[in-house]
Amino acid sequence: MPESPNSILPWAEPAWYSGRPSPYYKESHVRLRDYVKKWVAENFAEHAEEWEQLGKIPDDVYQKCARDGLLVPMVAGNRIPKEWAQYPIAAGLKPEEWDGFHDFILWDEIFRGAPSVSNAFVGLVVGAPPIRMFASPALQAKVLPEILTGEKRICLAITEPSAGSDVKNIATTAEKTADGKYYIVNGEKKWITNGMPADYFMTAVRTGGPGPTGMSMLLIPRLPGVKTRKLEIGAGGMGATTYITFEDVKVPVEYLVGKEGMGFKYTMSNFNHERLFISFQAISGIRICLQDAMAWCQKREAFGKLLIEQPVVRNKFGHMARQVDSLQAWIESIIYELEHLSHEKGSELLGGVTGLLKVQSGIVGKYVADECVKLMGGLGLTKTGQGARIESISRGANVLIVPGGSEDILLDLGVREAIKLSRKAEKAKL
Ligand SMILES: Cc1cc2nc3c(=O)[nH]c(=O)nc-3n(C[C@H](O)[C@H](O)[C@H](O)COP(=O)(O)OP(=O)(O)OC[C@H]3O[C@@H](n4cnc5c(N)ncnc54)[C@H](O)[C@@H]3O)c2cc1C
Repeated sequence: MPESPNSILPWAEPAWYSGRPSPYYKESHVRLRDYVKKWVAENFAEHAEEWEQLGKIPDDVYQKCARDGLLVPMVAGNRIPKEWAQYPIAAGLKPEEWDGFHDFILWDEIFRGAPSVSNAFVGLVVGAPPIRMFASPALQAKVLPEILTGEKRICLAITEPSAGSDVKNIATTAEKTADGKYYIVNGEKKWITNGMPADYFMTAVRTGGPGPTGMSMLLIPRLPGVKTRKLEIGAGGMGATTYITFEDVKVPVEYLVGKEGMGFKYTMSNFNHERLFISFQAISGIRICLQDAMAWCQKREAFGKLLIEQPVVRNKFGHMARQVDSLQAWIESIIYELEHLSHEKGSELLGGVTGLLKVQSGIVGKYVADECVKLMGGLGLTKTGQGARIESISRGANVLIVPGGSEDILLDLGVREAIKLSRKAEKAKL
């Protein structure tokens, strides 16, 4: 395997980058890795700060992302439909070559090359898949070309001021007009990533009675009556976290995604890739922290020695290393399992497991960020200089914990799903 052009510091990159054998990676993965690493360095790295203020990637660069093949895989996740061969795919890959390990590498390289810029794609990654999975052919034919060419942007709007974890209790209503041609949407959504630059809002709405069966998914264009306001959160501007108000928004019924009453099911199945994606984000941040802290500890002297010569410092790295290597192995094994299961079977068997993986990623992410802040001393709390990346990652560490399903909720989900599967297996034996 060719060596990576990046860091050779321990744990700064996945082990296979330095030539250690792996059953998962082949030539196309190496090709994609090198392509994305170079692309991100040339197009994103220097602009991160300026775009933070703007709260988005400028339109011309966003469209370049599409032309150079980054957007199609972001929407597709681990499987690119062959009809999408008409759009460019990064590193010249063909749809049939693409797998979940390419998905992992794409994100790992974007996160590590430009961690803050990566937040500008979250809305696309979580908001666009329901179009492909559940929308009518007519709606797909209208919206997908706009999204995949970067002409329009999208976000996922589920959470409301009074319903976050408790998704089935959302209150935003979509009532059909008497002539059956429109939904009139009223309600509010809160903490919506990339809501500010979005042209489309993939929205959970109530079209029926209370509870999960009264929920539907509606793609709401930025029509009159849609208002967006930025929420300031600690984790950086590119997320463009948004408060959305819908006031008598008149949405043509053709924008219903799939069937009425299926919104809760669609929302739950959409969470699985989002949680895997958050784990990709976590492990990339962890590697950045390890890289910068290791570089610092190999040059900073205290008490007449380099920091790395202190056994206590090496002990800290040992504890961080065992956790990042375990996390990498768990992520890879889940990707492998998903590769060998249908979408439905993967959701059934791995929904709970992916929830637990996301919990573990958040815990390890926070632990490593905290340890690295300590190793950096004052630099770990300073927004510029050699501790800047660690400062920023540690400030954003809770973003791994709450969005996409909060830690307590996912621990519970993981156990409930495991019990459900074991009872099903028990029944099958009888
Ligand atoms: C930066 C950021 C970006 C986000 N992006 C999006 C987005 O793009 N789209 C979107 O729709 N939403 C988004 N969210 C919303 C996010 O998904 C919710 O904040 C999250 O689901 C938690 O909901 P809540 O804030 O209403 O907390 P609550 O549901 O009020 O829960 C608060 C806490 O109570 C505890 N708790 C609640 N219920 C239980 C239970 N049954 N068992 C055990 N403990 C429980 C948990 O500790 C939980 O963390 C984002 C949030 C943030 C902060």
